[in-house]
Amino acid sequence: MKVIIVGAGIIGALTAFRLAERGAEVTVIDAGQPAGAASGASFGWTNASFHADQDHFNLRLAAIAAHRRLGADLQSDAIRWPGCLCWEAQGDAFDEQHKALKALGYAVSEVSAQAFAELEPSVVAPSRALHFADEGAVDLAQLASEALQAGARHGVRVLAGLSVTALQETSGRIAGVQTLAGVLTADRVIVAAGVATEQLMAEVGAPVPMLRRPGLMVRSEPLPPLLNHILVSPEQELRQTPQGHLLAPTSAWHQGDNSDTVPEPLDALANRTMARVQEMIGRQVAWDQVTLAFRPVPQDGLPVIGACGPAGLYVTVMHSGATLAPLVAELAAAEVMESALSNTQLALLSPYRPARFTG
Ligand SMILES: Cc1cc2nc3c(=O)[nH]c(=O)nc-3n(C[C@H](O)[C@H](O)[C@H](O)COP(=O)(O)OP(=O)(O)OC[C@H]3O[C@@H](n4cnc5c(N)ncnc54)[C@H](O)[C@@H]3O)c2cc1C
Repeated sequence: MKVIIVGAGIIGALTAFRLAERGAEVTVIDAGQPAGAASGASFGWTNASFHADQDHFNLRLAAIAAHRRLGADLQSDAIRWPGCLCWEAQGDAFDEQHKALKALGYAVSEVSAQAFAELEPSVVAPSRALHFADEGAVDLAQLASEALQAGARHGVRVLAGLSVTALQETSGRIAGVQTLAGVLTADRVIVAAGVATEQLMAEVGAPVPMLRRPGLMVRSEPLPPLLNHILVSPEQELRQTPQGHLLAPTSAWHQGDNSDTVPEPLDALANRTMARVQEMIGRQVAWDQVTLAFRPVPQDGLPVIGACGPAGLYVTVMHSGATLAPLVAELAAAEVMESALSNTQLALLSPYRPARFTG
């Protein structure tokens, strides 16, 4: 089966790999470079502690397991499992979060200030924190690149710097894509175009409404090893990459950030973020890069995964793609190749079908 994927972000890249493993002939088209949009700016925190409801928790938990499968399949160190120390919620909200996650069977425990200081000697210890032992940090650019390289061994081709201008509809079926370099045909088209998904889908009468959600990531100069975990305080999320850079989103609680504008000039935001980082680690740190990317957030905040619009078309768009991509890639590849999903897999996907927007 010939499949075109529009978008070589983390979703498109991993889906290409899983499809190629199943014998599909895959072409991935990206207007820029692989992982050049949201995936390249991501904080990369892989978690299920943040979730909207039980279904969303189940999906995220299954995605953590899919990350482990993918890491083994690709022999990749792009995903690491440092765990997370979180004291974002305070007072009663802290205890409620602890209780709720425990009731869900999540790997969560409370650590005292003293235990925190032993786990993170370079960080000003809060009075207590939650430890999420199974959470990870992923370098999405590295992972996308490794998946495309592994896919290439199964024949995956990448057309970079080529914009898809429209989906090609013939006799009520999607039969390929239009590009500035002409029409490319396929048996199936997957739209994994991040924030550009809404427009491509709307033109073939398939509504996937999305929000405008700018996200900003500040990167520090490289530093010697300082942090052992992903850290989540009420004011700041922070982690250190294997290359030594600290990564810090400019807004606290970034996964739930609802602002649709960038409130200040980027350098002012970066300075403010680094000032908060300094309070956390008790030392001055300079930033060397700030990246703005629009987060692909569907209108209801939840993933959109499934066949949609004219026959032959499939869509995958979501925030929390750093967490969800490996699972979405497995399930989307199976569905596009018309392999039967288990009841458990179907139950995971059923709240996230695109039909919810067509009423
Ligand atoms: C600042 C920030 C922090 C984040 N933090 C986290 C986090 O901690 N945990 C988490 O789980 N998630 C996080 N996310 C979300 C996560 O990074 C995204 O959900 C994920 O990267 C989306 O991947 P994608 O492949 O769908 O989209 P993208 O990475 O945006 O890729 C879409 C691709 O499609 C291409 N494209 C678009 N239009 C066309 C066209 N017409 N023709 C051809 N190509 C096209 C683009 O060039 C782009 O490369 C964060 C995102 C941001 C921005």
